[in-house]
Order: sequence, then structure tokens, then C-alpha cells
Amino acid sequence: MTGKAPTGRSIAPRPGILDITPYEGGQSRIAGRDAAIKMSSNEGALGPSPRALAAFRAASETLARYPDGGSTALREAIGARFGLDPAHIVCGAGSDELLGQMARGYAGEGDEVLYSEHGFLIYPIAARAVGAVPVKVPETNLTADVDALIARAGNRTRLVYIANPNNPTGSYLDADALRRLRRGLPDGVILVIDAAYAEFVTADDYDAGIALVNENDNDNVVMTRTFSKIFGLGGLRIGWAYGPAHIVDVLNRLRMPFNVSTAAQAAGIAALADRAHQNTAARHNAAMRARMTEALRAAGITVPPSQGNFVLARFSAEAEAAAADAFLKDCGIIVRGVAGYGLPESLRITVGRTEECKAVCDALTRFMAERKAGATGGQSRG
Ligand SMILES: *Cc1c(COP(=O)(O)O)cnc(C)c1O
Repeated sequence: MTGKAPTGRSIAPRPGILDITPYEGGQSRIAGRDAAIKMSSNEGALGPSPRALAAFRAASETLARYPDGGSTALREAIGARFGLDPAHIVCGAGSDELLGQMARGYAGEGDEVLYSEHGFLIYPIAARAVGAVPVKVPETNLTADVDALIARAGNRTRLVYIANPNNPTGSYLDADALRRLRRGLPDGVILVIDAAYAEFVTADDYDAGIALVNENDNDNVVMTRTFSKIFGLGGLRIGWAYGPAHIVDVLNRLRMPFNVSTAAQAAGIAALADRAHQNTAARHNAAMRARMTEALRAAGITVPPSQGNFVLARFSAEAEAAAADAFLKDCGIIVRGVAGYGLPESLRITVGRTEECKAVCDALTRFMAERKAGATGGQSRG
């Protein structure tokens, strides 16, 4: 796929673009089946707040009108909810848009953009789109390595993207580690903290990035957040960034004037107001994540601790992960292969509703038991 796409005889896009491996979302259907349990895209298990749905429907009355290009009321609602100055917030069509605009604003041809080994695949896409060089920095124990990132940052480095917690590993950097990373990077490098899963974190030494943005005198930290995960609004595309005024200004110049639709703004505001729904979703996730981790470990699968709304199931080999994936599909369950993240022996499983979590754990327990029986019986089940 890289560099092989057809070009016109004399027309070629800018350098880097044909090196992009297009992002593939989690699968949502199984051939030959009408319904499936979808645990492949980290969508909020409980879906959106009914209040968000009502606001979305009400917005249908005003669709002839352009949205508020500044997402003013949504930024005010976000500010009120998280204790932030709305002037330091910019909204996007998903946080993906804002992550991409950061690269557009601050990196160019020949510049380097750092991300950690098993980091989110949008980062290298964002880098290549502007002709920059994405640099993958090795992790330690499936966790971003602060010292390695600091050591690798050089003259050409413009941005460091960190997903915290990270998808698909579920690991996180605590507030001190993140602060140490910021202090160790050159002042001219912007640290972008992608906190898409912040609302699911239960570790008490975690900071989503707000404290680091606020306390950082050099104005070189940005945090991004999303309504796609705990708020269950992935289909509406709403994200936001919080950062220093000069970076918010750049993002506001680069983004398209009406990047967040009327319906998205209205639903986002209503979703924020439903604190009970968010609390229920967070409690559900913490309980189910623990239960899934325990059940899969009991089945003989390695599961690193996760702070997200997913767990990483690690098998003994790539072929075992592929067999488990096929077994789950036979059971009508879709999970996410993560070979693209350098983890071919693993599957990422989103925390779903209670019965969905039970179904995937039961299926994998059966799978592991069959593999074991096959192994002791000396049969191979290719
Ligand atoms: C899901 C996810 C996002 C959210 O993307 P949106 O564009 O806001 O839907 C961002 N970062 C990571 C690491 C994610 O997994």
C-alpha cells in the first residue's frame, strides 16, 4: 500500500501522502450474519445519554441554518464542566481533526513527529500528511518510555503525541511521568496529550493533561478530548482541544469555519449535562474491565492492566490470536486485531454491556480450553 498508489501521469500529491497507510476502523459486521456483538471500536458500552439524543432530534428543526462556527455554547459547557476558560478550548469534528491540525500547524517537510511504539495510528498519518517524518519510539512494558522519548527528541522534532491512557495497550503515564516528559523535551517541541480515554481512568495518580497545560510556563502543551468514547457519540464526531492561547489561535485559523455541526454541538452540550449517565458509564466500565481482565487471565490469556474501556488479550503467538479471532467471529463477536500497532499476537476487546462482556469471556475460555485439550491430545488445530 505504501508509495504504490496510482498517480496521474504528471500529477502527484505532496511528499509523504502516498506513504500513508489509510486508517481502518474496527470491523462492524461478520459476513453471513445479521447481528454481531461489536467490541472492536471502543465505543461507549452504554451509548449516548437520552438527553443527547433528544437534543440531536431537536436540532433537526434548524438544519437549514449554518452552525455556530465558533461552537460557543459547546465550549462554554465544556469549560463549565471541566473548570476551563472557553477561550482556551477549540472544538473539532472528532479529536482526530484537531490531532491532524496540530501537525499541519507545527510540522512540515523533514520535521520529526514522535510517538510511542504502540501509539495511536492517527499520529503517523498526521505526520505524513504534512510531509513530516513519524518517528516511533520504543516502549517499555507496553508503556510509553519517557526517557526514550526525551533521548530521541532532537533539532528536527516539532511534536510529541502521547495517548494517555494509550490505545490499544491500556497503559498510562502518571502525572509525574508526564511532567518529567515535558521538562525533558526541548522547549520548542509541543507535547500533545491525547486523553480520549480520560473518563475511564481509575488510577488516582493520573492527570488528563489539564494541570500540565495550566502549570506549563512555556505554553507548549495541548490536551485533546473526545465525545466518541464515554459519551457514546462517535457517530457525531465531536472532539476538543485545550491549550495555550497561541496554539488555540493556530487551530482556529486552520480548522474549517463550520467544522462541528449544529446537531453535534447540541448533543454535546446535552451529553455534558447528564452527569448521572457519565458516572454510570464510568462505574460500569471499571467493574466490567476488572471482571474481563480476571476472567481472561483465569483462562490463561495474558492481559496487561488497562485504564481504558478495552482490554488487550495477548496470546502466545500471532497464529493463536488469529485462531481466537476466528473462533470469536464464529460466536458472532467482533474484536480488533492490532497487528497494525505492532502487536500481532494480541486482540483488543472493548468493554461492552454486561452480557456482551460475559459472552466474549465465555467464548475465549472455551477457546483456550479447546487449545489446551488439542495440545495435550497431540492434535494440531491449525
Ligand atoms: C478513539 C480515539 C480518539 C478519538 O477520536 P475521535 O476523532 O474523537 O473520535 C482519539 N485518540 C485515541 C487514542 C483514540 O483511541
